[in-house]
Amino acid sequence: MPVNDYDIIVIGVGSMGSATCYELAARGYKVLGLEQFIIPHEQGSHTGQSRIIRKAYFEHPDYVPLLQRAYTNWKKLEELTGEQVYYQTGIVYHGSSEHPVIKGVKEAAKIHCLQIEDAVKKYSQFNLPSNFESICEPRAGFLRPEKVVTLYKDEAIKKGAIIHANEAVLEWKKENGQITVVSNMNTYYAKKLIITAGAWAERIITGLNVSLKVTRQLVVWVKPKKENVFFPGNFPCWLIADDKREGALYGFPFLSKEKFGEPAGMKFAWHHAAEETDPDHVNRDISEKEIDELVNWVAEYIPAVGNAEFSAAKTCLYTNTTDENFIIDHLPGYDKDVTIACGFSGHGFKFVSVVGEILADLAINGKTKQPLEFLSLKRFD
Ligand SMILES: Cc1cc2nc3c(=O)[nH]c(=O)nc-3n(C[C@H](O)[C@H](O)[C@H](O)COP(=O)(O)OP(=O)(O)OC[C@H]3O[C@@H](n4cnc5c(N)ncnc54)[C@H](O)[C@@H]3O)c2cc1C
Repeated sequence: MPVNDYDIIVIGVGSMGSATCYELAARGYKVLGLEQFIIPHEQGSHTGQSRIIRKAYFEHPDYVPLLQRAYTNWKKLEELTGEQVYYQTGIVYHGSSEHPVIKGVKEAAKIHCLQIEDAVKKYSQFNLPSNFESICEPRAGFLRPEKVVTLYKDEAIKKGAIIHANEAVLEWKKENGQITVVSNMNTYYAKKLIITAGAWAERIITGLNVSLKVTRQLVVWVKPKKENVFFPGNFPCWLIADDKREGALYGFPFLSKEKFGEPAGMKFAWHHAAEETDPDHVNRDISEKEIDELVNWVAEYIPAVGNAEFSAAKTCLYTNTTDENFIIDHLPGYDKDVTIACGFSGHGFKFVSVVGEILADLAINGKTKQPLEFLSLKRFD
């Protein structure tokens, strides 16, 4: 095979792309992964130390079979590398029984026989309205995104994948049955193409029948006075669905610098489609006003946050579809030679370990065993 010829090229080696490069290389394919920044990096959607993983999926119960497989694959990654990426802390969902989040958690748990428990009196750290229910999902927890991306990238390279960081793809085309990919450094050829470009997906996927909205999301870390009360083991991941604003508040236990790196503290954020942005010109300046608003809102429900010491704040990008469900499909018009995965709408990381496998299946076999109808492009026609 000439030097620049590959079986499959992956555009974007972030969350989904790193796992995909690993899956393809592990199956013996000659794969090239092209990433415009270093791997991992802070410009896209995969930094910020932690990502919640849970199964009682209020967004849509059809995600649950994918999550069952994702949990299996996270374990495989840990066994392969000897590194821990999943931390079981449980998650507590708080909200009124009428709220779609609470209803959705119960529905998904019922359909898929998932363990959930009443948790009204379990955690005294919360201060909740009397009409709120509290439901605990004990097998939920969090993942470490930067570590995951690094491990998948390193394992892909060990299996023979070629990965180029700091190389941006400018354009691609299919001609005479072959894919040509042009980057700012070189031209490459392949039989198949997979695009996992996150917030830049709309730019590089030509002919998408739906628009993607990229938004700037704020994340804040604080250090409460009694840190140990919020350590994993004493405090879970949490999600609060009130009726005051759209979306939900969510957060994590206190993660120490020694074990999890900087920044130390309790991280929280507001899950909703925030201010729209251009991924190449994101306002990374964070005002005191926006931090205070978020801190004050969380402090209504976790009083210790009100007088906690500020630790850090960062921005990160969501890429939202119109229905907030992912897009995983072949791109129409290319005879199943181009596969895309995008629009993860702020809840995709927990699926990385199964999406890599699915994308490899779709590119190589043209199909997957996983039920994906609800994530197809057809739903937008
Ligand atoms: C603040 C925040 C909190 C979140 N919390 C959770 C959570 O708790 N649980 C959860 O499951 N999910 C969560 N998510 C969502 C999850 O992190 C994302 O859905 C996921 O990271 C998206 O993965 P991706 O591969 O699409 O994007 P990315 O990881 O950003 O990867 C895309 C990559 O493509 C590269 N790229 C793009 N265009 C090109 C090009 N032309 N050439 C070369 N490279 C290119 C980019 O540089 C990037 O590295 C959160 C997201 C944010 C922002």
